[in-house]
Amino acid sequence: MERVDVVVAGCGVVGLACAWQLARRGLKVAAVDRGRFGQGTSATSFAWANASTKTAFEPYHRLNAAGLAAYHALAAEHGAAAIGLHGRGSLQWAPAENDLLAGQLQDTYETLRGWNYPVEWLDRVAIAARWPALLLVEDMVGVFCGTERWVDVPRLLVWLAADFRRLGGTLFENRPIVAVRRDGGRIAAIETAAGEIETGRLLIAAGIDTPKLAALATGDAALAEEFPLQVSPGFLVETTPVAAAKPLDVLLWAADEDGLHLQPSPRGGLLLGAGDIDDWVGEGDHPAVIEKATAALVERARGWLPALETTGLHASGKVGRRPMPADGYSILGPLAEAPGVWVAVTHSGVTLALEIGRLLAEEIETGNMPAALAPFRPDRFAL
Ligand SMILES: Cc1cc2nc3c(=O)[nH]c(=O)nc-3n(C[C@H](O)[C@H](O)[C@H](O)COP(=O)(O)OP(=O)(O)OC[C@H]3O[C@@H](n4cnc5c(N)ncnc54)[C@H](O)[C@@H]3O)c2cc1C
Repeated sequence: MERVDVVVAGCGVVGLACAWQLARRGLKVAAVDRGRFGQGTSATSFAWANASTKTAFEPYHRLNAAGLAAYHALAAEHGAAAIGLHGRGSLQWAPAENDLLAGQLQDTYETLRGWNYPVEWLDRVAIAARWPALLLVEDMVGVFCGTERWVDVPRLLVWLAADFRRLGGTLFENRPIVAVRRDGGRIAAIETAAGEIETGRLLIAAGIDTPKLAALATGDAALAEEFPLQVSPGFLVETTPVAAAKPLDVLLWAADEDGLHLQPSPRGGLLLGAGDIDDWVGEGDHPAVIEKATAALVERARGWLPALETTGLHASGKVGRRPMPADGYSILGPLAEAPGVWVAVTHSGVTLALEIGRLLAEEIETGNMPAALAPFRPDRFAL
């Protein structure tokens, strides 16, 4: 039987980043997944590393900004390509004559500027000069964030897994956690389909399955249903490589209700999504709906990129399931009912992973909560 300092349950972007940060601190760590690593929600993410859409609550903005900064720091050390970091900024845009949308963008710009986040206000002339391939049917204005990036999550996870192993961590794939053994209330071991791993500390980072594991860890079966997490489906389409994607170095996001978003994919195609189409597709149970949604996204992309050649273009769509905490903000920290057990579950997990991994690793090793985690504790939900 193995014995480790910490078991991390779940090897998506959040779990692997946490495991890696724990191993960097010299702890003996086992990262355990029921399947292959990175095959959960992290396999279907738009993966925009950003803090610019988080303007409602400053601590959450700051956490996301720190997440983005952590990518830049890692890229400076190992190279952006090695860790799968792409692009040269994001542009949220709207027609200037739409007072509501342009006004909201202006508010976003003012808020971000007030928080010293690097942001630029661009008018039609500036947008046309920077990205001549874009079709500006209307007088557009936009908020440009030059430090924001998008992440090739599979590439990042391969890098994290390799470095985790180099640091002495053990990655157990295809080992579902089926039970948690406690001793006098405190966690003693986790039981997987292929045997036990002894540990005094468990970090649950199982995405949408976090409630089930929290129920196992606490012995409170009702938590599987009552944990404050919703599942929010999202639909993404990726096209085959296309010439129109090549010169595009920016991630685009429409500030309207439909929220069309587009970025060059790491494989040379385009990655596309839209808020209203997420709603049509739902859990993706109807192939005809998927087909219609895919075609609609490609057509809308052509509205922005007229050079997009659709003849012979293949596009395939898949549904991802976002782990969405009830109030929209990350749930990060210990579970009161189960000494030795922490959770890390969040939307925007790609943006946040490296930073929340760093903060939780510090807390798990030292026993002291970093101040940045205070607004995001499980106990705000009485957990
Ligand atoms: C369409 C879409 C667009 C998104 N866009 C963005 C974006 O632009 N920017 C951004 O930052 N975020 C975005 N997100 C959110 C982001 O992708 C998620 O927050 C993130 O991937 C969650 O990662 P995770 O590691 O928590 O979960 P997952 O990737 O789901 O990993 C959880 C792991 O736990 C494992 N597991 C479950 N149960 C068990 C068990 N019993 N035993 C062992 N292992 C278990 C699973 O196999 C899985 O590998 C988007 C999500 C979607 C769906």
